Amino acid sequence: MTTQPTTFAHHLTQDPVPEEVRAAILADPGFGTNFSDHMVKIDWFGDVVAGTGRWSDPRIEPYGPLVLDPAAAVLHYGQEIFEGLKAYRHADGSVWTFRPEANAARLNRSARRLALPELPEAMFLDSLRELVSVDEQWVPDGEGESLYLRPFMIATEAFLGVRPSRQVLYSVIASPAGNYFGGPVKPVDIWLSRDYARAGRGGTGAAKCGGNYAASLVAQIEGEAHGCQQVMFLDRDRGDAVEELGGMNVFFVLGDDTLVTPELTGTILEGVTRTSIIQLARDRGMTVEERRFTLEEWREGWRSGTVTEAFACGTAAVITPIGRLLSAEGTIGDEGARPGTVTMDIRKQLLDIQTGRAEDPHGWLTRLV
Ligand SMILES: *Cc1c(COP(=O)(O)O)cnc(C)c1O
Repeated sequence: MTTQPTTFAHHLTQDPVPEEVRAAILADPGFGTNFSDHMVKIDWFGDVVAGTGRWSDPRIEPYGPLVLDPAAAVLHYGQEIFEGLKAYRHADGSVWTFRPEANAARLNRSARRLALPELPEAMFLDSLRELVSVDEQWVPDGEGESLYLRPFMIATEAFLGVRPSRQVLYSVIASPAGNYFGGPVKPVDIWLSRDYARAGRGGTGAAKCGGNYAASLVAQIEGEAHGCQQVMFLDRDRGDAVEELGGMNVFFVLGDDTLVTPELTGTILEGVTRTSIIQLARDRGMTVEERRFTLEEWREGWRSGTVTEAFACGTAAVITPIGRLLSAEGTIGDEGARPGTVTMDIRKQLLDIQTGRAEDPHGWLTRLV
């Protein structure tokens, strides 16, 4: 079966961001505060319970507010999912993205969990290609910079009864992104959340949905009050097993040649960055273990020197060394520690592939423009 490319109607803006304003934004993009001139919209009508429905009217529209009925299901019951990936400009001017099929597959896993309709992979890829083609001038070309793409799906049916929405909007917006933490890579301190969980057994931890983020905000506030930029969540039912951060997966380096990351238990989000790091580490001849890794093992390993590095990973910040884990029960890690060499090596290797400076041995890149 051949898939027809999706045809998008173009309703282009009469009022694009002026060139000099765009230039100023691209000179210092920050993260998530500025948006390109257009957005993707595709409607869905159907019934996920009956297994019916279809996607209709794919279009590019001017970037702008959505009109939603105040009774739209997403506003009341949080039926929403999203994705995040980046478009990188390579030295020859072409624009590429990283493993978008993995994001398409994850969007559909999230959709199944939230009783939303699945979007065909080809339509997902076409939507990215279409938006980046129209807004190509919004892809920055500085070191570590990219156009961050945010596909999302929301329940738009005006209905206050509790059941899956029969009307859904899929959309993609794009936001120029700078070098996430700017300047030289510095280890971040992480706060250990004791009072809060972001996900529980049977819940939505493995789905990329807004509700998980809403649930993590109070923990984030607590962490920031302790001078930390991120929060670590544990699974108490599994003996304080390390899970992940609010929006990033975690890895531990044991000695020089073993990498440990928490196994996927259903409460952890399966990051595309995580999967890619596992592959790159194996390519380098490292042993990678996906298993239970407890707070106690981390503390003991840090004391005895067997746990030599820790880092967090995700699309937005790629790989960030973890300096210390702070908590009411004490601290793991040394103040002023420098980024670990294994962490920085893998980080460079991954970034070099994404930005076209190194070969792409696994065919992870897809050209958009
Ligand atoms: C998106 C996300 C990640 C990282 O996933 P990537 O695909 O690597 O960007 C990790 N944890 C959570 C909770 C996330 O939402």
